[in-house]
Amino acid sequence: MTELKITAYKCKKCGRVHYPKHERCLNCKHREFEVIKPEGKAKLVAYTQIFNLPWGFDERFLIIGVGQFENGVKAMGQIKADSLDSIKSGMTLDASWEPVRYIYEEPVYGLKFAPIS
Ligand SMILES: [Zn+2]
Repeated sequence: MTELKITAYKCKKCGRVHYPKHERCLNCKHREFEVIKPEGKAKLVAYTQIFNLPWGFDERFLIIGVGQFENGVKAMGQIKADSLDSIKSGMTLDASWEPVRYIYEEPVYGLKFAPIS
């Protein structure tokens, strides 16, 4: 499995996880962070369907969701599903790092979530 190219920042004072990075903790304003990677499975916390896709996507629409990993990292990714019917908040997702679109036939990698049933 390809490593997820996601780096998150955990506040050394209160433990809040930030992704992407912020200069100061959104919770306690502390400035020192520990660098962490997403770990384990992700739980779906929010999702939406988008129809107006940027150039480079072949799909008619995408389902995009925010997953929260077991160590608290939250990240947005593309959900591997054909319709919203099979998606619900709180479901468990398997995360992978894969091409999400192609620009001049060059793959652009990103986060994808596969629902685990
Ligand atoms: Zn903090």
